[in-house]
Amino acid sequence: MDKLIRGITSNGRIRVFGALTTGVVQKAYETHNTTPVATAAFGRTLTAALMMGTMLKGEKENVSLQFKGDGPIATVLAVGTPQGTVKGYVGNNFVALPLKENGKLDVGGAIGDGYLTVIKDLRLKEPYIGKVELQTGEIAEDLTYYFATSEQTPSVVALGVLVDRDFSVKAAGGYIIQLMPEATEEDIVKLEQNLAGLKSVTALIEDGMDIGEILNTVMDGFEIKITDEITPEYKCDCNKERIERAIISLGRQEIEDILKKEKKAEVTCYFCNKEYVFAESELQEILSKNE
Ligand SMILES: [Zn+2]
Repeated sequence: MDKLIRGITSNGRIRVFGALTTGVVQKAYETHNTTPVATAAFGRTLTAALMMGTMLKGEKENVSLQFKGDGPIATVLAVGTPQGTVKGYVGNNFVALPLKENGKLDVGGAIGDGYLTVIKDLRLKEPYIGKVELQTGEIAEDLTYYFATSEQTPSVVALGVLVDRDFSVKAAGGYIIQLMPEATEEDIVKLEQNLAGLKSVTALIEDGMDIGEILNTVMDGFEIKITDEITPEYKCDCNKERIERAIISLGRQEIEDILKKEKKAEVTCYFCNKEYVFAESELQEILSKNE
């Protein structure tokens, strides 16, 4: 069962985040009809956004991860909230690439060279924006680099999505381990020893481990206090008012053009593919309300 947890070592020197997201990524795959390599790129990003959502403090805050590269998938975007919900989309859900030499899906090849942009909407006047160059396009390495350079927080990021033969999601999850400034050399050595030779996160999930057991394996020798535990969910928060605001932002001229040509507007939500239809009378009302 999907689970999202965060915790801290009893000495307060290391923060830990873990997510089992097989169900969330399956829902994302069903919603966006992604090919295996797109599911892997999307699922890793969604899993990271869920964990980074729990790093936020305010209820209405959210964090967006945007991978934009010159590869065939073009964009992968995910938005996480502190409530454990996530939504997102990929630029090209049909991307297909040969497997890498090691038999893995070529997520780095799908994304290509480009940038990772992290936007935190903290409900302040301006959002926090951190932008780093992609290291490999494999998502986890890029986030490790982001945490080190933009947030000055040394981190271990592991993300995995295992796609089944029928394209459904067999296993998905990940963890983020963050060293606080008080972390000692001894802590780092111990953590490195634990990570050396550790199986991939999807292999651990396939072994039947839950996310708490996975974190305990990664953090062997440390005492962890779990402070939060939520059931994560792929969930869109769109509604007709939001879509109406998007239509208004098109501008008067554009809306008048749509009225003339189509006599109605059909708008599909990027995140959940729900379709909204605005009839001629509703478009006219939008125009008259926004004179
Ligand atoms: Zn939606």
